Amino acid sequence: MLTNPYLKRVYEQTETRNKTDREFLQAVYEVFDSLQPYVERHPELEENGIMERLVEPDRMVSFRVAWIDDQGKVQVNRGYRCQFNSAIGPYKGGLRFHPTVTPSVIKFLGFEQIFKNSLTGLPLGGGKGGSDFDPKGKSDGEVMRFCQSFMTELHRYIGADVDVPAGDIGVGGREIGYLFGQYKFLKNNFTGVLTGKGLAFGGSLGRTEATGYGLLYFVDEMLRCMKGETLAGKVVVISGSGNVAIYAAQKAMQLGAKVVAMSDSQGYIYDPKGIDLAAIKQLKEVERARIRAYCDRVPGAQFGSNRSDVWKIPCDIALPCATQNELDADSAKALIENGVLAVAEGANMPSTPEAVELLLSHGVLFAPAKAANAGGVATSGLEMSQNSQRLGWTFEEVDRKLKGIMVNIFHNAYDASKACGREGNLVVGANVAGFIKVSNAMLAEGIF
Ligand code: NDP
Repeated sequence: MLTNPYLKRVYEQTETRNKTDREFLQAVYEVFDSLQPYVERHPELEENGIMERLVEPDRMVSFRVAWIDDQGKVQVNRGYRCQFNSAIGPYKGGLRFHPTVTPSVIKFLGFEQIFKNSLTGLPLGGGKGGSDFDPKGKSDGEVMRFCQSFMTELHRYIGADVDVPAGDIGVGGREIGYLFGQYKFLKNNFTGVLTGKGLAFGGSLGRTEATGYGLLYFVDEMLRCMKGETLAGKVVVISGSGNVAIYAAQKAMQLGAKVVAMSDSQGYIYDPKGIDLAAIKQLKEVERARIRAYCDRVPGAQFGSNRSDVWKIPCDIALPCATQNELDADSAKALIENGVLAVAEGANMPSTPEAVELLLSHGVLFAPAKAANAGGVATSGLEMSQNSQRLGWTFEEVDRKLKGIMVNIFHNAYDASKACGREGNLVVGANVAGFIKVSNAMLAEGIF
């Protein structure tokens, strides 16, 4: 509960100003709640209006994206870019193409990105963007025309030293390729303006795997340091079957765990003998098919149409890797009853506040998204460095740096939780550790 009068006042102002932005308010509340002890010890934050400025994006643009479908009909979607905070570096954050995208979703993701990027230790500010366009079921030609139209407007606001978008839900290698091509065409300038690019035109080895691999490097370190255990032999359940989920599963298996369930928005599959990841990759990365089809190909696997039932499957480690608020209090209770050891967020804000509270109060190790899934943006930062140097690093070099960054993030968050008197609460630790650098930069840079 918010008891600090300054944070309470700023939160109430934020509520008044963003009445319908449910996800954004949820993200702000969580950060404010964690920061109370720190804010109490630092009166200069109030004197300089740091929190008031932190919750108001530097700018948020909204624009029309008109494109022509395969039937020759004009379609119109809405595009967004939220440039939230550039105190420690150029704006950086993904683009999401999904029908559920609203200004609230973009703002919550942009706000979270500020702290996540700070935690990576790299000079990256926070931003996010996207559209309510749904790439699912569209032809490559339709996706290309949409991406070209989207970039025709977006290119005015971004640049390699200004704002560097990347992928997110619905934006993978194909979409980044079309977006990059259009930017280059419009500006006549070949520059690292996007990350997640193809290897032939400035992409980094290891970026595709980075968020999922990074999540498992974080979990591995957390288990070792907080429980004296490893991933070997652990049973893992993962929601989603997109970029983050697939490479989380891959690294979990490499580290000796058994992944028994994955999902998509239409349901989940349970394969007690361990998921066949090649089959998932074929379905999701090649055929863009529904996860249900896994059961037609792999004997012994079962399908359930209620995707949240995936959390009822007994497991040691649960990795929500699909979308926001997908793991609620009932799911948390089911996990606790089945003796879950750790929950680590691959998606952004996938656990509701009630779920987080339950997991923490029952002694479950909990790795919050802004720390645990920071591997993606960290490797995007490494892609930016390679682009600036006009050099490409090996997979091993990128992966080694990624692992180092994730281990560091764990220790920074853990140490900060200890310094706040909340040892082991990584929600508090990650928020405080991410905030300190950003607020110090804001204090140094003056008021604007
Ligand atoms: P993808 O588009 O590759 O995959 C998303 C997965 O989540 C799909 O399986 C999708 O199922 C499922 N999903 C999407 N929306 C919903 C929904 N409303 N309900 C249930 N399931 C849903 O996205 P990513 O893997 O890239 O991203 C997943 C999460 O990770 C997001 O929260 C994203 O912000 C976060 N993230 C991603 C990073 C990255 O590097 N890609 C970096 C850091 C965070 P379906 O196919 O049926 O839609």
